[in-house]
Amino acid sequence: MHPPLGIYGGTFDPVHYGHIKLAGIFRDTFKLQEVRLIPTGVPPHRPPPPVSPQQRADWVAEAIAAQPGLVLDEREVRRSGYCYTIDTLRELQREHPQTLLVWLIGGDSLAGLPGWRDWQQLLELGHLVVAARPGFDFATLPPPVSDQLQKRLAIASPEALSHGKISVLPAPLLSVSSTALRQRLARGEDVSDLTPVAASIVSSGLYRQSSDPV
Ligand code: ATP
Repeated sequence: MHPPLGIYGGTFDPVHYGHIKLAGIFRDTFKLQEVRLIPTGVPPHRPPPPVSPQQRADWVAEAIAAQPGLVLDEREVRRSGYCYTIDTLRELQREHPQTLLVWLIGGDSLAGLPGWRDWQQLLELGHLVVAARPGFDFATLPPPVSDQLQKRLAIASPEALSHGKISVLPAPLLSVSSTALRQRLARGEDVSDLTPVAASIVSSGLYRQSSDPV
């Protein structure tokens, strides 16, 4: 087997310090040589972000430029049509047949997993890592997901990485979200404490008129 490959998909609308810190803790906890950040193109679970996929990806590239082992993967940005995680993981598996895929999501995403395409098969495709998040409580997971979590739970260490397992990332709770970032941008407030690419986002003028409730 080749070294495991870290995968971290998201809307990154826009990228914030929570994403970058989590990706770094993910890399270090599992001794991953590479973590691919994969901005989604057209997400099936939410209305399409008004900011283009390429723009979101460009900010991710800028945000991780000085972070060793964090790499931008633009495959979903280039894909036409909806982006499903199962397609992306299968594609990566075909490209790296000898490699274990280790993929990271936040607890809020874990709770919504039954809405994802082929979610049970998704759990077989690699080792899932879940990050706790403020406002999310593992005790409130829908029963089909908590059953899977109990059945598949593994400690968070490089030695425990295995197909079909789930680990909880030992990381501090990070209260930042893209929603909060967009709301502050819409109000014209300083966001340099929330994202490493504040200057680029502000100078783009995007998010000045937000569709989020402010
Ligand atoms: P939004 O506020 O628009 O929903 P977001 O901050 O959740 O955005 P995404 O790009 O949707 O950002 O997040 C990508 C993945 O990272 C998701 O699985 C999400 O749960 C997780 N994530 C994002 N921010 C955090 C955080 N602060 N703590 C834990 N997980 C996070």
